[in-house]
Amino acid sequence: DTLSPPTSAGPAISLVDVVKDFGGAGARDAAVVRGVSLAIGEGEFFSLLGPSGCGKTTTLRMIAGFEEPTSGQILLHGRDMVGVPANRRDINMVFQSYALFPHLSVADNVAFGLRRKRVPKEELRDRVEKILRTVELADKADRRPRQLSGGQQQRVALARALVNRPRALLLDEPLGALDLKLRQTMQLELKRIQREVGITFVYVTHDQAEALTMSDRIAVMNQGLVEQVGPPQEVYERPATAFVAGFIGTSNLIGGRLTSVAAGTGVLDLGDGQRVTVPLRGSVTAGEAVELTVRPEKITLTIGPADVASRVRGTVREVVYLGTSTSYTVDTSTGAEMTVFQPNDGTACASPSRGDTVWLSWATDHSYLLTTAP
Ligand code: ATP
Repeated sequence: DTLSPPTSAGPAISLVDVVKDFGGAGARDAAVVRGVSLAIGEGEFFSLLGPSGCGKTTTLRMIAGFEEPTSGQILLHGRDMVGVPANRRDINMVFQSYALFPHLSVADNVAFGLRRKRVPKEELRDRVEKILRTVELADKADRRPRQLSGGQQQRVALARALVNRPRALLLDEPLGALDLKLRQTMQLELKRIQREVGITFVYVTHDQAEALTMSDRIAVMNQGLVEQVGPPQEVYERPATAFVAGFIGTSNLIGGRLTSVAAGTGVLDLGDGQRVTVPLRGSVTAGEAVELTVRPEKITLTIGPADVASRVRGTVREVVYLGTSTSYTVDTSTGAEMTVFQPNDGTACASPSRGDTVWLSWATDHSYLLTTAP
């Protein structure tokens, strides 16, 4: 509260080449976070997504001020945060363990921080009431935490953080303890609440469906580095690297040397009538080794070869009925295992069984050229 007002209308949170090496030597390669740069916008719902151990939590804890970077800069609203303690950062954090006071009512749990800050009684009551309405717990104000469901307890924890009106809220796998159904409901709830309060959210998760559902933008992390930052549709449909393609969905990788290049399109001739075409980016020439990906729902299965730009042959290894679609795992003759989703709405061309020979085909635009990891 004693800090000077923010200086610019730039990003809410910036990380500039942030490294964290718990060993202390500052060696980049051995570090847990190996040089992360991010610019998170004001009011954005921003997710850090990646597998266990990739450095998401460590990155979040550095933004919060619970850890200091070994090198690099963290700016909050343009102000350098190095050396500024967590409680002076105008940021709140919500954890998976709600850490509510069991002997206090819901309202008193939420009011706790405001009382400590000696917020006047009237204002305190108004703010608590308003935030309990936002998280749809106004009718539970007098309950004790143990009288609430897991999802309700998590919303109390959220209300307790939001009532302080932080400039940003950091959330570390806050829904991790809830069962799938409740988690899905809470994802939509969280998104609605974030839109309503307009506060910047930075959300850590290893669950790609969760990140896709809630985020304005996602940073996909792998081994201490950010491999791609973008809106959900972009990271799903245009993954930058093989890791991103595989982590957000099924990667369906195809690799090889380009047989020919013409008019911005490359062709991999795979023999026996099999070929893959891919739109090119940058200066790629014939003979060059490339790697591309195609999403399972973009592929059509047929018994004979279709007259399409990309087609490969394979043998069905697995068939899994998923309700609205059926998933086929196909061992292709190129050696790559590929997954295909076919809709169960009657539009599928073929419904082959295990062991059948099939053709996989798709349009040029659905091949997506990958770049190598950073
Ligand atoms: P998870 O989802 O499993 O929490 P994460 O992506 O959040 O994974 P981090 O918690 O940031 O990953 O941990 C990254 C690496 O840093 C791990 O190998 C972890 O063991 C290590 N690490 C985290 N905190 C410390 C610490 N205080 N001292 C030493 N190593 C640490």
